[in-house]
Parts: sequence; C-alpha cells; structure tokens
Amino acid sequence: MARTCVVIGAGPGGSACAALLQSKGLKVTLLEQNTFIGGKCSTFEDQGFKFDSGIHMFATGPKGPHGQVARELGVPQEWLIRDPSEAIRLNDKGFFYLHQKTNSRKALGELVSAAISGRQRIDILNTFYRSVKSFGVAGFIRELAGVAKAYPSFVQKYDDMTTRDFLYLFTDDLTVHRSLNCLSMLLLVVPYTKSSAGEFMYVVSDIFRRGTLGVPRGGAASVPLSFMRAFLRDGGKLCLGVRAEKIIVEDGKAKAVLGTDGNTYPADVVVSNAGLNTTVMLAGEENFPEEYVNYIKSLELSYSWIATKFALKKRVIDLRAPSFFPIPELDPERIFAYCDEPDGIPEDPFLFVPIPTEWDKTVAPPGYQLVLCGVPTSREVDQEERSRKILDVAEEKLFSFFPEMKKHVVYKKRITNKDTNKITRKGTGECIGLAQIPGQVGVNKPNPKMPVKNLWIVGCDAGARGVGTEQAVASAMLVSNLIL
Ligand SMILES: Cc1cc2nc3c(=O)[nH]c(=O)nc-3n(C[C@H](O)[C@H](O)[C@H](O)COP(=O)(O)OP(=O)(O)OC[C@H]3O[C@@H](n4cnc5c(N)ncnc54)[C@H](O)[C@@H]3O)c2cc1C
Repeated sequence: MARTCVVIGAGPGGSACAALLQSKGLKVTLLEQNTFIGGKCSTFEDQGFKFDSGIHMFATGPKGPHGQVARELGVPQEWLIRDPSEAIRLNDKGFFYLHQKTNSRKALGELVSAAISGRQRIDILNTFYRSVKSFGVAGFIRELAGVAKAYPSFVQKYDDMTTRDFLYLFTDDLTVHRSLNCLSMLLLVVPYTKSSAGEFMYVVSDIFRRGTLGVPRGGAASVPLSFMRAFLRDGGKLCLGVRAEKIIVEDGKAKAVLGTDGNTYPADVVVSNAGLNTTVMLAGEENFPEEYVNYIKSLELSYSWIATKFALKKRVIDLRAPSFFPIPELDPERIFAYCDEPDGIPEDPFLFVPIPTEWDKTVAPPGYQLVLCGVPTSREVDQEERSRKILDVAEEKLFSFFPEMKKHVVYKKRITNKDTNKITRKGTGECIGLAQIPGQVGVNKPNPKMPVKNLWIVGCDAGARGVGTEQAVASAMLVSNLIL
C-alpha cells in the first residue's frame, strides 16, 4: 500500500514537495490554512490588476529550482526575461544598466564606464593593492576565479565570514561597499554586515552564470500554482482553509495531523512548511530534546521588505530595464542601521522598484503601468506607524526620480509586515525565513529531518541555499528525495 503523507502549508516549498512526493507514488494530503496557494509568494487580483503579495523577482527562473521542478513534474511555466535586467542608479550619475551576462562586450562596457566615471568612481588601484596585500598575486587571481565559479568548497570556505569582512579583503572602496550591501539586502534580506559571504557569493554567481533573472507570466503565484496543477493532476488531496492545529506524536513518531476542520489526518510521513518554530510548537516541545528546542529558539530570522504598489494610467517610467534600484550615498554601514533602531526611519532609503508591466502586460488593464516600490525594514509586525513613515520617505524618493508619476497614480496599495503576518500567522513579518548568516548556512543550516521520527521540515528554514522562493523549492527537492 502507498505510504501516506501530510504536508502542512502550500508555500513554494510545501507545494513543490507535495507535488514531487505525490508524483513518486505517495498518497499526499496538503493542508493550507489560507484559502489560496503560494504562502508569501502569492498574487491577488484587484480592479483588473494582479498584485504580488510581496515584491518578487526570480533569481534564476527556468534554469533554477523552479524550472527544474516544473520539468520534473511535466508542467509548463512561462518565464519572461529581459536584458538588461536592472537599472542601477548611483546618486550623482543617473542610471547604468546591469546585463544578465556580465561577460558580453556591451555588459562589460556599461560596468566599466560606471566604475570609472563620475564622482563615485571605483578606486581600481587601491582595490588591486588591497587584494594583492590580502592574497598575493596568484592568490588574488585564484580567489577571483572562486568568486566567479562559486564551487561548493570555495563557498563553504566563506560561509562563516560576513560579506562585509570578505569584501574588505579586496577593497575599501565606498561605492563597492554600498552597492554590495544593497545587493545583500535585496537578495538575502540581511545587510552585508551580517550576511554570510559564502551564501552571498553562491546566489550572485548563480544569477550571472545562468542569466535568467526574471518573472513568470501571470504573477509570482504562477510558480507554486504550476506545482499545484501537477499535484492535483496526480491525485493529491488539497484542503484549503484548513489549519494544522497539532501534529500527533506517539512513541517519538509523528503519526497524524489534527486540522481545524475537526479531521485527524493519519500519516506515515509529516512534512511541515510552517517554519521551524511553529512546527516544534505544533508537535509539542516536550517531544523534542531540550537542547534542540533551545537551538531552534536561538535561530535568527531575516529582515523584511514593505512596499507601495502604484497603478499609473499611462507608462511613465521609461527605462531600458524592467526594474531599478538607487544606491544611497551614505556610509555603507549606515544604510540599513535604521532597521535595528527602535522607530528608525531611513535618511536616504534603498529602494527596489520592479515594474511588472515591463515584463508582463497581462498584470494590468491595457495601457496602465504597474510600479512596485519596496523598502527594507525590521521583521516586527507591530510597527504600522513606523511602516507608514518609511513608505512615505520611499515614495518621496521615487517621485523625485519620476515627478510625472504623481499625477498619473490611479490606484495605490501598501503592504507591511502586518500583511505578511496575515499570510503566515507566525507573529513575525520576515521576508525569507531563517536569516542567511554565519552559523545558519551551508553545513550549519538546520537539518530538514527533525528529531521526531517521520517529521520533516521544508522551505526556507532548512536544507538548501539560494534566494527566497528558490531555496524553498530547492529544499523541497532535497526533502522529497530523502523521504523517498
Ligand atoms: C515583501 C516580500 C518580498 C519578497 N521578494 C522575493 C523575491 O524577490 N524573490 C524571491 O525568491 N523571494 C522573495 N520573497 C521571499 C519568498 O516569498 C519566501 O522566501 C518564500 O515564499 C518562502 O517559501 P516557504 O515555502 O518557505 O514558505 P511560505 O511562503 O512562508 O509558506 C508557508 C505556508 O505554510 C502555511 N502554513 C503555516 N502554518 C500552517 C498551519 N499550521 N497549517 C496550515 N498551513 C500553514 C502558510 O499559510 C503558507 O502558505 C519575498 C517575500 C516578501 C514578504
């Protein structure tokens, strides 16, 4: 008889894992507390617009875990990829463009001209001198190759160093430090003073090697929904609006899940996408070794992004790339310091501004432009007044670049940590899950096999590397293989 499995949660990790296990012959029931699929990676329709529940862009799209799982399940995903992918604004120099592959002549030309022109030019001689002082000439070339290729042993070597400390081995140039601090906040949702250098190099190198940064047609939810199509096609049972209240553990083994619909779902295997802390609570702290419970409680979560979504009645932002980010001209270590200060507001906010209609016209009525403006903050939920102020500052900065926007806004919607928490109900508003910091990545990432028999965790809290949704789905590939 087929083994039975209950998966708790239909985020990207849970839906990929449920679909993979069902396709390999397990009899899977998927319980999702919300009435929609996708967790933090969802899409909502309002007045003809498809709004992202967050502000998603996908690092490696069809060539990364999302595409890999879709191909394995035999379901289509349509990816929209533009080159250049990003417009970057260094404050005094206008925009320069980042291409998908930095080894093309055009891409290198734009990078070099940005690096050597203007007030903020990179001090190349200083950088070379500092790098050679750290590594010697041969060592410097070896390290550069390591950064570009990011082989596992190289990445692992730097897992326990912060990105900032790693960068100081090469350069103390302020423009480089500012830019990579912002990139760390964008990709790992942790400032570079805290993020793991190994993890950071892994994701950056992966993006440039694959050259498929983009979005799926129809909005972010199209990714988990594609997995769900395979799950339902293969006979999986989906229960929407059913929260797992308790994981029933007997003799040290997970045996069943009690749902808020009053049903008990028996299971040979339980996989939880609800995060490590919630899962320990659901299964009962008393069923885990005390040191494990203390370890889980000591883990740090990522920071967060909040956003304003603008619908404009015409195309106002006219850039060559579908998204842009301005790098603040501040002391690099101060850029995100406000996140850790009580009631902190950014003096010059780092913005991430994807423009979904520049990839995909189907997310808005014809002729409209949809613009998202994200800004980082801490993960606490109870800070609505502070969020309002942060979003006001962000909006002012965005309008200073594109003053025309103001008079064409027909619809404006804001999302804060409160909205993220409405989805997860964890009491926190972090974007990712576990923070990708020294001591919590690579060999130190929590094991997806929990110390209660037949109980597994899937998603951003365990098992994999990568950017947000992609590490959640990579974790699903790992967990489903281990269970099988
Ligand atoms: C503002 C914002 C911007 C982001 N930008 C990006 C980006 O650009 N690129 C990117 O890749 N990622 C991005 N992310 C991160 C990404 O959305 C998450 O990393 C990813 O969704 C995590 O996937 P997951 O499967 O681990 O869990 P989640 O998405 O958190 O899903 C967990 C699921 O479990 C369900 N659940 C929890 N408890 C229970 C229970 N007891 N019973 C039943 N169901 C339960 C929840 O309802 C949810 O559906 C962003 C997130 C936010 C908030």
